[in-house]
Amino acid sequence: MSETRSRRLFETAAHIFPGGVNSPVRAFKAVGGTPRFLVRGEGSHVYDADGHDYIDYVASWGPLILGHANPKVVAAIEQAAANGTSFGAPNPYEIELAELIKGAMPSLEMLRFVSSGTEACMSALRLARGYTGRERIIKFDGCYHGHADSLLVKAGSGALTFGVPSSAGVPKDLATLTIVLPYNDVEALRGAFKDHGNDIACLIVEPIAGNMGLVLPEPGFLQAIVDLAQRHGALTIFDEVITGFRVGYGGAQSLYGITPDLTCLGKIIGAGLPVGAFGGRAEIMRRLAPLGDVYQAGTLSGNPIAMAAGAAQLRELSSTEAYDRLEAAGAALETGLHAAIGEQSAAVQLARIGSIFGLFFNEHRVRDVATVQRSDVNAYAAFFHAMLDRGVYLAPSAFEVGFISLAHSRADIDDTVSAAKEALASLPAVARR
Ligand code: PMP
Repeated sequence: MSETRSRRLFETAAHIFPGGVNSPVRAFKAVGGTPRFLVRGEGSHVYDADGHDYIDYVASWGPLILGHANPKVVAAIEQAAANGTSFGAPNPYEIELAELIKGAMPSLEMLRFVSSGTEACMSALRLARGYTGRERIIKFDGCYHGHADSLLVKAGSGALTFGVPSSAGVPKDLATLTIVLPYNDVEALRGAFKDHGNDIACLIVEPIAGNMGLVLPEPGFLQAIVDLAQRHGALTIFDEVITGFRVGYGGAQSLYGITPDLTCLGKIIGAGLPVGAFGGRAEIMRRLAPLGDVYQAGTLSGNPIAMAAGAAQLRELSSTEAYDRLEAAGAALETGLHAAIGEQSAAVQLARIGSIFGLFFNEHRVRDVATVQRSDVNAYAAFFHAMLDRGVYLAPSAFEVGFISLAHSRADIDDTVSAAKEALASLPAVARR
């Protein structure tokens, strides 16, 4: 497969951007080879600079639940842009998107828009600290909440992929305020509250972990977080940047019937444009400036084009039929991949919830970072390239997840399963059971 144009672009980019990229995992360092420069997306497919066509399961890392260049989203963007690209003043588009979000997630009594998931989590954290007057926070090893200093301690996603889960440049004094616990470990949670219960401002958690591969919460884990937090006067923050409007219209909080104090959103609510949001109980949100003493702001926050795109996407999702279709596509992919894995007796585990899936080249049950890290990253890299060669674009890291969109057809799923059968059969590096 010729990669001449992508290679040339990557060589140029490497002189301009560190690692040739503007976000680390895109550089393909974890899987080797040349990152594909993508020039177009349509529905479930993306096209690279050399003219190759791929079935895309990255979906801009989750936002594109309707697929690329959905006509309704594009029309909303064009219409909004024609009326001005940014005002830095209140606009009606903000209210439209906010009301859709509140309708789906009643726990967000009030919310504020920002421009990324990082900003949402960073701001929610400041608010929790301001509201409680406490400084310590609890996060879970392998969960990624963006790259704000307090949260870049034992993080997931690219930080985990590149072996720098706790980044250089984070002041030690700040990092020591972040207590990191293993995911799914209720005993460790109880222990942390016993030791520091009265100092903890908040716990932040991915209610379904999607940045160390896909790791589901074990029964009782999320409830224990909420119960312990409540008992000790700490706030629970659900980071639903991935799960919001993905695992169901109401996100993971609706799926599990658990109400956090604050929620962070991003990705899907912007339909591929830069948007994030955080929100929750009105009493807490009223502490934000200009009403309260916790400062938070943004030149482009509530950007009309981004708001219009997000609203168009959420309107399309607001039927149960949308999630039934996503579940059916996910189930078909799961069944097909299970068959492919079984045929090859490959030591691969498949995790899935709705339209999110993860592959672990790992024989052990996966429940936290320690078990995830027993995965064979070289086998994943070989599989990734074998799939790419067959026209399937998966995440270029063993510790990320795949996203199915409403644009993925039955033929896309069948082609993906056929590619996986061939790919697994072709790989001597894959362990057999
Ligand atoms: N939280 C979660 C759960 C995420 O997956 C991500 C990004 N992958 C973020 C926060 C940060 O979002 P952004 O990249 O938009 O800053």
